[in-house]
Parts: sequence; C-alpha cells; structure tokens
Amino acid sequence: MNEDVAFINEQVDRHHAWFSKSLPMIASENVISPLAREMLLTDFGDRYAEGLPHERYYQGNVFVDEVEDRVVALAKKLFRVRHMDPRLISGTVANMAVYFALLEPGDIMTSVALSHGAHISSAKFGAAGMRGVNNVNYPFDVDRMNIDVDGTAKLLRLVKPKVAAFGQSVFLFPTPLRDLRDAFQEAGCHVWYDGAHVMGLIAGGQFQDPLHEGADVLTGSTHKTLPGPQHGILLSDSEDEKFIKRLQRAVFPGVVSNHHLHAMAALGITLAEFLEFGRDYAAQIVRNAKALAQALHERGIKALAEKHGFTQSHAIALDVAALGGGAKVAGDLEKANIITNKNLLPWDTSSVKPSGIRLGTQELTRLGMRESEMDEVADLFARVAVKHEPADKVASDVGAMRTEFNTVHYCFTKNAEAHRRWRIA
Ligand SMILES: *Cc1c(COP(=O)(O)O)cnc(C)c1O
Repeated sequence: MNEDVAFINEQVDRHHAWFSKSLPMIASENVISPLAREMLLTDFGDRYAEGLPHERYYQGNVFVDEVEDRVVALAKKLFRVRHMDPRLISGTVANMAVYFALLEPGDIMTSVALSHGAHISSAKFGAAGMRGVNNVNYPFDVDRMNIDVDGTAKLLRLVKPKVAAFGQSVFLFPTPLRDLRDAFQEAGCHVWYDGAHVMGLIAGGQFQDPLHEGADVLTGSTHKTLPGPQHGILLSDSEDEKFIKRLQRAVFPGVVSNHHLHAMAALGITLAEFLEFGRDYAAQIVRNAKALAQALHERGIKALAEKHGFTQSHAIALDVAALGGGAKVAGDLEKANIITNKNLLPWDTSSVKPSGIRLGTQELTRLGMRESEMDEVADLFARVAVKHEPADKVASDVGAMRTEFNTVHYCFTKNAEAHRRWRIA
C-alpha cells in the first residue's frame, strides 16, 4: 500500500481501537447507528443537488429528491412543525443562514455571553460579528446557570433587537421563553433558538419545545443529543410564507450550495429511529446526567447549580479549579481514556486556562449505560481527578467497563459484520 494511505489508515484504526475502550463524554458528540452510518458510504456522497427537491439545477436527483422529501416529512413529524430545511451542512452554517435571512450588518442581536455558555458562532468574533451584527448580551443568573428573566425582559424592551437569540453550548436548564413573550412582542423582534446541543432532548420531549413556546426559528446540529450524522438542521412553525422563503433563500443560495446528500440520507435514518426510540433515549440521557452530577458531587467534585438539581439536560458543568483547573484535569483524564473537555465557567477570564470541565451523558447512554453505571463512571473520574491514581491502572478499568457497553442502542438492529472495520460493534 502507498505509505501515506497506510499511515492514515493506521491512525484511523488506532483511533477506533482507542475509542472502543474509552469513556466518551464530550457533550457535543455522539455515535451514529449502523444503518445511518451505512448511508455515509453511498454514492449520495458523490453527487450534487442544488435548490429544492423537484426544482434542481442538476440532473440525476431523481432518488435524492425522494429521500429529501422523506427526510423533511420525518423531521416535521418528530418536531411537530410546518417547516424543516435539511440542507444545512452544520449547526454553524444553520446559524449563518439565520444571520443572512434576518439580520443586516449593523442590526442588534441579543444573545447569551460566551462565558455564560454561548457558542462561538453567536459571538462578536464568530459568525455573528463577521456578519456585522451588533451583539448585546443578556444578564445571567450564575446561581441558576440561566439567563436572568427580569433583566432580559428589560434589556429586550430597551434595545429592541432585530433578533433575540437563545441557546448555549453549556446548556443545563431550559430557557424561560414563555416568561419573555410580552417583551418579545414589545420589542417586535424575531426569536431564534439555537438548539444545537439539545436537539435530541427537544425531539424526545425532555427539555423544552422552543417553537411552541415563542421561538420563530430553531437551528441545530444533528450529531449531539440527536445522534445523527455531522450535519445541521433548521426548523420553523411559522405560517408566514414570506418568512419561510427568506429562510430558504438564505440557505440556498446564501450559505450552502450542495448539501452533503449522504449525510442527509443518514439524517433520515436517524430521524426514523428517533421516532421509534427517541423518547426513551432522551429521558435516560437526562436521568443519567442528574445521576452522574450527584455521584461526582458525592466524591468531592463540584458540579454547578447544585441547589437547582445540577442539570435538566445531558450536560454537567464542573468547577475543578481546586483540582488543578480544567486543562490539567481534562489532560489527566485523557491519559486514563476518559474523554472530556475544559470549559469556561461564568467567572473565568482566560479561555486557555478555564476552571471548568463540561461533561455530557448522551453518548454513554447511547451505549446502553444507566444510572448505576454513572456511579461507576464517577468513581473512575474521581480516581484520576481527586485521588491521582496512575492513569494506566484507571484506563484498564475503563476498558473493562466498556466491554459490556460496546453496541449502539436506541436504533434498529442490523448485523454489524459489514461495519466491523468502522464500528466497535
Ligand atoms: C455545537 C454548536 C453549534 C455549531 O454546530 P456545528 O454543527 O459544530 O457547526 C452551534 N451552536 C451551539 C449552541 C452549539 O453548541
């Protein structure tokens, strides 16, 4: 084999072997089902489709159009909405479509601050700022790890933004959208909810239902708590055809040309599976997150929002300043094959040396773990972060634990033989 080809193959194989004996706890990741994964290898990934189904600019989309129609229908059913656009190739690109559709350079958008958990795409030096949007941040209640409702209502009435944006990457509690309805009316703003992290929890009825609580448009990634391919999604329940047209034009020709048809097909499989198994999956994710936060807390690891039950989502924010800081703890955990990330906490000033760790339970749940396993996970975590046991000793116990949790749950089964190379299952 060509040396470079062999090298790349080997690294990918090693990555697979490593992850199959690790605890994957990054809150923005997940594993796709075997049937959905199969779509990623098909000829759909070699083709182009521009525009809308049945009105394309290229020939050859006969079956692509059929799939796209079905994907849209499945999403509308799952989220109970009138409009879904499957053409966003990532969550950030979905957000860019919102900026193109609803904001002009110089317009004001209100949003959560980065240090309070917002995503880089809504920040001044991310996509929003590059669109020329003027960002004004909400007051935040650090104790509750949520926006301050009264302060936010006041701010909306004062600055009258064109768009009021919500949603976070450290997203522990639902946004109180209903309490802000009057303020939205008075400000006359569009309400946009970035649900990238919690898309699966929304679909599974476990977090909140933004499009039925006052949001006009919902964007997100399809690969976080929604366990699909790396892709994006945009939804709306608006009856205003002009509004929907604006969104559609912002997607194409605005921010997407071809929309990664193999990923779209995989998303369709994911949505079909989610309609079948999603409620149980989402409920178990949240139960596991609460159980894990409690178990970590009992082992002397400080989880935020203790008074409010730590979390109502898949995510937990830990303050590990006293244990050496986020970078050190995440690095030590990685050596023991526990995969996490350092994260800013509200009072942090340096994003290079933050004092937090963010965890998510969506992938461990996907692998079949439940509350009792969260206790074991917390134990392994504490052996590294608190007791400073040798990494290889903990890693070997992590690997032993994983041998019982090495298949993807909450999906249709398929003989996994064909996926042996790419899947641990
Ligand atoms: C992950 C995330 C995104 C970006 O999603 P990508 O699919 O990685 O582009 C956008 N917004 C929020 C709140 C996120 O957490």
